[in-house]
Amino acid sequence: MRDLKIPQDRHPEKAHRADNAQPKKPAWIRVKAPTSKGYRETRDIMRAHKLVTVCEEAGCPNVGECWSQGHATMMIMGEICTRGCTFCNVATGRPDALDVFEPGRVADAVKKLGLNHVVITSVDRDDVEDGGAEHFAQTIRAVRRQAPGTTIEILTPDFLKCAPEALETVVKAGPDVFNHNLETVPGLYPTVRPGARYFHSLRLLQRVKEIDPAMFTKSGIMVGLGEERPAVGQVMDDLRAADVDFLTIGQYLQPTPKHHRVDRFVTPEEFAAYEKTAYGKGFLMVSATPLTRSSYHAGDDFARLRAARLEKLGRA
Ligand code: SF4
Repeated sequence: MRDLKIPQDRHPEKAHRADNAQPKKPAWIRVKAPTSKGYRETRDIMRAHKLVTVCEEAGCPNVGECWSQGHATMMIMGEICTRGCTFCNVATGRPDALDVFEPGRVADAVKKLGLNHVVITSVDRDDVEDGGAEHFAQTIRAVRRQAPGTTIEILTPDFLKCAPEALETVVKAGPDVFNHNLETVPGLYPTVRPGARYFHSLRLLQRVKEIDPAMFTKSGIMVGLGEERPAVGQVMDDLRAADVDFLTIGQYLQPTPKHHRVDRFVTPEEFAAYEKTAYGKGFLMVSATPLTRSSYHAGDDFARLRAARLEKLGRA
């Protein structure tokens, strides 16, 4: 795992910012250090296939649990992102050229891990004309060929600077779940996600459903960044208006003192209230806990998501 104490190497745009004190984590956030045999096996497969994972790059607290079951979320198109979101620990800078052999290595790793469900994400590639859409599509197709029994969930960038065909390319490759995270409430975009546009991201999710009405869509936000509760309710309404099926809500954790400050730790009871509200607004699936991440328990949740749609159709 990368050293999280030296941000200037990874985050030149954050290096001169004032430090934000990192508050002590409450008991409900603490997790065990990764030590299991399964964790080491997953790590070895990732290394052998020269694959990058968001689990490591983002310093995810769930890595011990997820990797012990082989559940690694692969991050394609390199380890350097062209954006500089203030919450994110992925390195910012000028990325290398796309690796044409990467889709094959991802597919091989998925097969070796024997996954029922895989989550594949990427850095933002604003330097590539299609934002990496064709690379995503090739990766989906390669996994389908090598591991036909594995369901595929993608967590994509926003393709903000691309022609509309970029999104179509990815959707038409046929992932089972299309996830794109809103990350936060619209009022915090200028400080949390300055390179992105809230309504563009929302519209992206809506367009996925327009291109393929049967595709499951998913989005998530972090809380504890300074958002107010009514604004979270508004995000839920906006996502339902875009026909999004699955909402994830998790606690923001600050990777380094140079990152956006943690405003507060949202209590498990407040997460339970968010979950109840979201179900009331009509989401098929909601995961809202302090340690929820887009890809946390994604395989089990996908099975529940499919069952929830079938049940809803049965009632219709
Ligand atoms: S929650 Fe997602 S990012 Fe975190 S360790 Fe699990 S699979 Fe990786």
